[in-house]
Amino acid sequence: MSLAFGRHAMSIPGPSVIPDRVLQAMHIPAPNIYEGKLVDLTHSLLPDLKKMARTEGDVAIYISNGHGAWEASLANTLEAGDRVLVLYTGRFGRGWAEMAMSLGVDVQSMDFGTALPVDAEAVAETLRADTDHSIKAVLTVHTDTASSVRNDIPALRAAMTEAGHPALLMVDCIASLACEPFEMDDWGVDVMVAGCQKGLMTPPGLGFVFLNEKAKAARNRLTRVSGYWDWVPRIQPNLYYQFFGGTAPTHHLFGLREALTMLLEEEGLEAVWSRHALFARTIWAAIDTWAEGGNLSCNVVDPAHRSIAVTSVQTGEDEAGRLRRWCEDEAGLTLGIGLGLEAPDSHPGDSLFRIGHMGHLSPPMILGTLGTIDAGLKTLGISHGNGAVEAAIRTLSAG
Ligand SMILES: *Cc1c(COP(=O)(O)O)cnc(C)c1O
Repeated sequence: MSLAFGRHAMSIPGPSVIPDRVLQAMHIPAPNIYEGKLVDLTHSLLPDLKKMARTEGDVAIYISNGHGAWEASLANTLEAGDRVLVLYTGRFGRGWAEMAMSLGVDVQSMDFGTALPVDAEAVAETLRADTDHSIKAVLTVHTDTASSVRNDIPALRAAMTEAGHPALLMVDCIASLACEPFEMDDWGVDVMVAGCQKGLMTPPGLGFVFLNEKAKAARNRLTRVSGYWDWVPRIQPNLYYQFFGGTAPTHHLFGLREALTMLLEEEGLEAVWSRHALFARTIWAAIDTWAEGGNLSCNVVDPAHRSIAVTSVQTGEDEAGRLRRWCEDEAGLTLGIGLGLEAPDSHPGDSLFRIGHMGHLSPPMILGTLGTIDAGLKTLGISHGNGAVEAAIRTLSAG
């Protein structure tokens, strides 16, 4: 008997759960795009987006998903033949690198596997070897959404400084912005890319590129920049439509306004970070308990290197696939699929699933997800340690 009734639950790492208030803010007739509310609202978004990123720099908005923000960041800083160093800690660094290659950029990569963060000292060594400074930018993800590794950005910046290398530091915060602590200016990040559909709780469709003065100088070095991706008119528009390179994403802007108000004004960014950290520990407590009696475990062993927005869970062969299927069909819960980490030795068969815990979440949602997974393990006869939900509750209650 399927029990998949009531509101369907999503525990995937983006798009994240959209608050009803954000949906309601978008449920309006088409607004005037020349003057009035929409224009004022757009101007109010910019300082709030910068507060989110902790930067005094600029932000360019694109009508795009994260892939669009990736391309925009590259189109404004690099040209064909330039070299970049891309750091892999899962799947998403590779995606950004593939985008760079499609633009004719020469990609040098360092692969840190699928369960460990970037080794900053090794990066410093590579940069020191680049004596003629042919590497124009170092690209990394903050949180790799496939492996759920979180990279230490200040350590990476320190390594670049120590190596005396002038490359730009470009960071993908698509999964982490508004979930994980991030300090663009203090950490010395030159370019940061983000999207609206993860921590920012808005339907997919807005991409952001944050940039500082050093990034602007890199842009000015280029002989040609694609007219649509060029960030200059977007950060210094003479006319309203130039914010978006055309018609504004009207309804998305109303949704994002509501989300930013909820996160920055009502809850407060530090409180948002703390809530994500507590929910992450709650989820890990359950996984550690399951691990005591079966094959389940967190993909990232050291909690200090784990994202607090998404957790990748290793299982025995095919167990992840069976569990996801049961949760989806029988219990109305969608879990994240394993993404791009398949390898016969480390991740055989369908042996990885992900719990997204970013954005608009509460204890009933987190405990509901964990309780449903626990019920699935029992129903399917997948061996696991008992008492996972109890362990989660203890962690949650301890605060
Ligand atoms: C989701 C995600 C992307 C891709 O974003 P899309 O909106 O799917 O294009 C890129 N990087 C990271 C870290 C992500 O989590």
